[in-house]
Amino acid sequence: MTAELDRIAPVIDSLGEAFARSGFELALVGGPVRDAMLGRPHNDLDFTTSARPEETEKILRTWGEALWDMGRDFGTIGTRKGPWQVEVTTYRSEAYSADSRKPAVAYGTSLADDLVRRDFTVNAMAVRLPGREVVDLYGGVVDLATRVLRTPGTPEDSFSDDPLRMMRAARFAAQLGFEVAPEVVAAMTDMASRIEIISAERVRDELVKLICAPHPRRGLSLLVETGLADLVLPELTALRMERDEHNRHKDVYEHTLTVLEQSIDQEARLGGGPDFVSRFAALMHDVGKPRTRKFHDDGTVSFHHHDVVGAKMTRKRMKALRFSNDEIEAVSSLVELHLRFHGYGDGEWTDSAVRRYVRDAGDQLDRLHILTRADCTTRNRRKADRLARTYDALEARIERISEEEELAALRPALDGNQIMSLLDIPAGREVGAAYKFLMDLRLDEGILTEDEAAKRLLDWWAERG
Ligand code: ATP
Ligand code: MG
Repeated sequence: MTAELDRIAPVIDSLGEAFARSGFELALVGGPVRDAMLGRPHNDLDFTTSARPEETEKILRTWGEALWDMGRDFGTIGTRKGPWQVEVTTYRSEAYSADSRKPAVAYGTSLADDLVRRDFTVNAMAVRLPGREVVDLYGGVVDLATRVLRTPGTPEDSFSDDPLRMMRAARFAAQLGFEVAPEVVAAMTDMASRIEIISAERVRDELVKLICAPHPRRGLSLLVETGLADLVLPELTALRMERDEHNRHKDVYEHTLTVLEQSIDQEARLGGGPDFVSRFAALMHDVGKPRTRKFHDDGTVSFHHHDVVGAKMTRKRMKALRFSNDEIEAVSSLVELHLRFHGYGDGEWTDSAVRRYVRDAGDQLDRLHILTRADCTTRNRRKADRLARTYDALEARIERISEEEELAALRPALDGNQIMSLLDIPAGREVGAAYKFLMDLRLDEGILTEDEAAKRLLDWWAERG
């Protein structure tokens, strides 16, 4: 705790002094206090103060480097100081009406009032500044030591005030790896349907943080067990299909969580931190299975077209959760393509099929490599090794063809203007058809010279009449 507070001392002590000089209270609060006690660095520093926003703004204007007041309606003024992002919020004691999507904000008068309305005891601790007096009115230190999430008041009151806190419980379980106290889980289960008054955007933001956390399985299991998933991500619950009587197919839900973890293990190849698109694609890749499941007379089970059906379902869910079009396209195309490789067999794809694989994956090729490799949860080592080696071979082949042909820039040999002048036709549908013919030629046969392409185009045109 002290080490981390010492690290952020230049910021917290000087800001505390600036507020004290103006006669206001200031305390570091929430996430940074929790993380300091866990010995984790946290560069977003949240403070709470007795000063009103106008007064906070005056102090930050001289103390900070840039000012923003995006959260002014909620009493928050933000600034930056070196690498630190600072947000100062006036004490609040907010009340939510049970049917409203947005909190009604009322300013509070004391730190204690401000802390009691916070979501979890581990997030309801503060360090008064300057002086660094730790304020822990609800046993946050003990809960941090025993790694448990508990609400400061009763969970029923807390979740009535803001049902989003149920999602936050799952999110923090996934981020911190903590247990959620049994009475909190019980309240989440009883009150799950209240999540419906929360805006899709707020739900989405918590879901994204949960999925990008170090222990998403923990958070997702909680959502499913409490019934919250039925409302925010019903496709996940549906994966827990009862097995057929012969146990002939694997538990798709368990399989999915394992695929998610295996894709996280490969995330380093994307070169960044947690990758939401890759993780969400892993989570959604089999959501088409429950709907496409068929039992056959010979005792087998099939899931025909679950890739296409799953991609549609993914698109619909992501739209409802107000994801951006780019995110929706990326995830749903991964879901749609996740089976394609299995036609690769022993590597007998033609160059044309390899080019089409690359073209269809587009920007998502690296993520598709990850998803396809992760989507193998067989306990049969030999089978797993064989699949991995076959995929190695496909990747090597893609690399070789890419080097030879610059696959990333797949274009036909002739452009629209050349087509129009060669065939002597005006812009229109025929040009589009000709372009498609040349593109197919490019995919099937690789790079052609302009002369060769022109000859083939004219033959095609003559045949077309
Ligand atoms: P991180 O920023 O690492 O995600 P955090 O704890 O700072 O974690 P935020 O969502 O930034 O989480 O919220 C900051 C603090 O505000 C929390 O620690 C908590 O005390 C309080 N808080 C945020 N949202 C709510 C809420 N819906 N209900 C009650 N308290 C909340
Ligand atoms: Mg924060």
